Amino acid sequence: MTVMDLTAVSEAFETAAPSAVIAWAIDNYASAGAGDGVAVACSFEDAVLIDLAVSVKPDIEILFLDTQYHFAETLWYVEELRRRYDLNLRVLSPLVEPDNRWQADVAGCCGARKVEPLNRALAGKKAWVTGLKRVDAPTRAAAPIVSWDDARGLVKVNPLATWTPLDLAVYAAERQLPANPLMERGYPSIGCWPCTKPVAPGEDPRSGRWSGLDKTECGLHT
Ligand code: SF4
Repeated sequence: MTVMDLTAVSEAFETAAPSAVIAWAIDNYASAGAGDGVAVACSFEDAVLIDLAVSVKPDIEILFLDTQYHFAETLWYVEELRRRYDLNLRVLSPLVEPDNRWQADVAGCCGARKVEPLNRALAGKKAWVTGLKRVDAPTRAAAPIVSWDDARGLVKVNPLATWTPLDLAVYAAERQLPANPLMERGYPSIGCWPCTKPVAPGEDPRSGRWSGLDKTECGLHT
């Protein structure tokens, strides 16, 4: 497909159910790469994307970037969901040892602990599925549902792009999904513990990420 074809597909999916978008990605790319051509990158902030993805393809590859700085609650949640869904979980570790880089060089730290491992995991894939949502941040407000990820050379699929926090909450309640314990403690957006603070009700959910720094993205979605 050309970039224009992908743009047309994306526009056609504006009102489609996320499961239909995931099914399209699997139909078009799942068997086209080395091993499985489609991978789902999950932050394990909640279980919505995983629940949708495994409902379409139970053995779809789920990626977790173990930065070595996740909250204990998130690591517990990863294991909880792995057991619940018998996930085909691929844990990506960075090629560096734990260090203090996050204290002085967050861009370099995210590069080594998130971007490089993700790029390594996506090598040979034909498409990746993310949990990115337009409401996450102004920088994501125009995110397409399907696009060409030029930097990595594969198709990027954002099946939840149009969803709001209410959509997520309704889906999670209907499906009785377990929650990351940090959510009820004021962490609506969850990253690594050195770079994530709780936020007050009504505040920008992502304002707790890299608080006080001129940084809003880790580099996975740029
Ligand atoms: S979020 Fe913070 S600790 Fe995690 S990889 Fe980025 S800079 Fe490092």
